[in-house]
This record gives sequence, C-alpha cells and structure tokens, in this order.
Amino acid sequence: MKFFYIHTFGCQMNVYDSERLTQALQDHGWTVTKNSGQADLLLINTCTVRQLAEEKAFSLIGRWAKMKADRPDVIVGMVGCLAQHLRQKAFKRAPALDFMAGPRALMRVPELAEEARQKKRVAVFSVCNFGGGTKAPEGVVPSAYVAVMDGCNQYCTYCAVPLARGREKSRSQKEILAEVKRRVAAGTKEIILLGQNITRYGSDLGQKINLADLLCRIAEAIPELSRLRFITGHPSAFTEQLIKAMADLSPVCGALHLPLQSGSDRILQAMKRGYTSTQYTDLARKIRAFVPDLVLSTDIIVGFPGETEHDFQATLDMVKQCDFDMAFCFKYSIRQATIAAELPDQLPLLEKEKRLALLLDTVEQKAVAKKAAMIGRREKVLIEGTDVKTKQRLQGRTRGNHIVILDGPPAWIGREIEVEITATANWSLMGEVISPPAGIVNNGQAIA
Ligand code: SAH
Ligand code: SF4
Repeated sequence: MKFFYIHTFGCQMNVYDSERLTQALQDHGWTVTKNSGQADLLLINTCTVRQLAEEKAFSLIGRWAKMKADRPDVIVGMVGCLAQHLRQKAFKRAPALDFMAGPRALMRVPELAEEARQKKRVAVFSVCNFGGGTKAPEGVVPSAYVAVMDGCNQYCTYCAVPLARGREKSRSQKEILAEVKRRVAAGTKEIILLGQNITRYGSDLGQKINLADLLCRIAEAIPELSRLRFITGHPSAFTEQLIKAMADLSPVCGALHLPLQSGSDRILQAMKRGYTSTQYTDLARKIRAFVPDLVLSTDIIVGFPGETEHDFQATLDMVKQCDFDMAFCFKYSIRQATIAAELPDQLPLLEKEKRLALLLDTVEQKAVAKKAAMIGRREKVLIEGTDVKTKQRLQGRTRGNHIVILDGPPAWIGREIEVEITATANWSLMGEVISPPAGIVNNGQAIA
C-alpha cells in the first residue's frame, strides 16, 4: 500500500480542496493516513492570505525535510495558493520539495507524484478546469462543503487570493446539484456552498443564473436538505433577490458572513472594496429587515497602509453600530505583488498590534453580550461530533452558526436536536436537550 498525508492550512476552500484531492489520490490507489511518519507522499495545502501562514508552511516542510533525510524515497509536494503565488521560488526556499501544484491543478497531483518518484522536480501552475469533487466518505458527515466557484475578480489591493486562484470560475449548476445530492443522500444535513466572492456566482457562465437562483434550485431539488449556507458574500454584489432568497427558502440559514474590512471610507476606497461604510450599514439593516434573527459575522483588517487613528476609530464605531455577533480581526500583512504592498505609510508592527488588541476588546464585549442574550432560548442544534476539548460531550451548531456544547450520546451525531441554551462559555454556548431525537434514547441505544 502507498500512503499519503495532507496537512491543510487556510480557509474552508482549502479544506474542500484537500477533500477532493484526497478523493483523486484514492481513485489512483493511494491510501490516506493521519500519521505523517507512515506516509510515502507528504502534501501541504498552503495559504497565502497572510505572512504567518507562509512561515508556518515552510517550517513544516523543514520538519519534513528531516524525515526525508532518513527516508529518501518520501515525496514532498506543495499545493494550493502559496505554491501558485511563489512558483519556482518555493523550490529554492525548500530544497526538500519534489513537486508543486497550484489550486487549479490539484487533479494533476496523482500524476505529479508519480513523476516526482522518477526523481524529477515538477510543477504545474496552469489554470485547468475545476475538476473533481467530493464523494461521501464513510461514516456520518453532518456538514459538508461544496465549492460553487473559485477565484476572484475583485482585486482588493491587500489581497493575494486573485493572484493565487485566478479569475472567477463558476461551476455549472448541474455539477453542483449532483454533488449536493450525493452528500445529502449519504446523510449530510448541512451544505455550505463555497466561493471567494460567492455573491458573483454565475456571472461568468453566460447564462442567466445567480446565487439566489442556485439556492432556490438546490432547495427545490433536494427537499431533504435541512441547512444551506454560503460563504463568502461580498457587500457590493448583494442583491435584493438574494436577501429574499435568504428570507424565503426554509433550508437557508439566517447566518451571514459579510466582510467589512474597515469602517473608514478612505481606507475602503484604498482597499478597492467597492462600497462605503454607509452602504454597508444600509445593507446590513435591509438584510435584518427581511431576516430578523440574522446572525452577522465579519472580517476586519487593522493597520492597512496609511490608516490613521481617525480611520481606526471609524472601524471601532462601525463595530459598535453594526451589532456583529462575531468579527475575525487581522493585522494587515504585506503580500508580495499586491498594490498595497507598494503603498507608502506602512504602519509599524507595534501600532498594528495595539489597534488589533483594542479592536478585539470591542468585538468581544459585543459578542459576549449577544451570546448572553441567547440564554433561555430554544435552538435547533446540528450535532457535529464530540467537543474538541474534553471529547466527553457533544458539539454542534445552531442555525445561526453558534457552537453549542451539550451532554448526549455519540448516536446523536448527525442529528438536529432541540436544545435550550443554558450558559455561555468562551467561544461557545452550553445547552441542554429539551427532548431527545426520535428513535434514540438517552443511553445512546437506537430503538429498533
Ligand atoms: N473573499 C473574502 C475573504 C478572503 S480572505 C472577502 O472578500 O472578504 C479572508 C480574510 O483575510 C479577508 O476577509 C481579510 O479580512 C483577510 N485578509 C486578506 N488579505 C489580508 C492581508 N493582506 N492582511 C491581513 N488580512 C488579510
Ligand atoms: Fe480577496 Fe477581495 Fe477577492 Fe475577497 S473579494 S478574495 S478580499 S480580492
């Protein structure tokens, strides 16, 4: 048997890409292992969004180089966004690398691994078709990702994603429906549609289909699907039709991740985001009018080049005003070959760290208050597995995407259960089951 091991950095799209890569390798006779020491093929699926992810990638390859010194037949491959962004330069930085493949060339990996075995260094960065997809693995998978498009045409000035993933490429509705059907037939309850700029789904297809239409087709064609989500929406392409689809289609969850990035109009413009702070708040208000219990999360960058105290204050004000349930906050990180990397007035690291700490404080205060307000509420929780910390309890998510920890048997994994929220914990909520799911009693024995 030949074994492969994949380490995945980065976003949900990378997780999905690693899943379809796993599938492709299995189709070519490889067996996946969770033990890197046992692997004949070591793969790293990389991220280029921030410098830290780049450093982590090279330090892991450095550790693998030591393993390779003992077992010279081991093949090391770097795939994904950083591979595409750095290209041949990565071979220079990491002599242990045998092959590289960009995110759109993942389906070539089985063949590249074979070529690398012949002691050749190979790399493919061309933009091929989407290729592959995920099949249902064995066991219960309560929630699954399905990519609907890849790439991004927005070219925000700080972002390396368009450079790594290329221009927008939507998958056909037929292909998406087939993959969603396959996952739901195997017991998956929740589908998360993925795209870097998913609100532009379909704009390159030359047919009249957009994200709202796609949500509608999925909901109609697969009525057994309980939950449907999509990430990541962009504020400037969020149509009224999409807001109505969120409100009207029963599987579509009332949770939305809508990156803001900055509260300052001057910075938003320098970022080339395509909206103002007022347009963002108006949009959030409009969505809330249609989806009253909307759970809204966002991404924010602090310390973009030229960001003044005044700009930063505007971001803090927006966080207070927008009532976010959660915000993922990042220090601006210089990415090679982006427009912002060349801008004057890059902020010192200490200043970025100071602003990040202040922002995180404001975000947390809001998040804690919003979570506390959920105590006593009844929520439907999709049980995803055991909790990460103790492995003794169960962990699931509400339709609003809040993590809930509760007591219950493993037989509940993959079920949606009515839960009362009883307390808040650090990043999650605690819950108690109101009534156990039909067919299963509390000790975990299924009733025949
Ligand atoms: N497509 C999504 C986000 C993709 S990257 C969108 O348009 O919002 C995920 C997040 O990483 C971004 O929302 C942004 O907040 C952050 N990010 C991207 N480039 C960054 C950089 N150079 N420095 C710091 N954070 C960055
Ligand atoms: Fe990057 Fe902007 Fe595209 Fe998001 S929309 S992936 S931040 S370029």
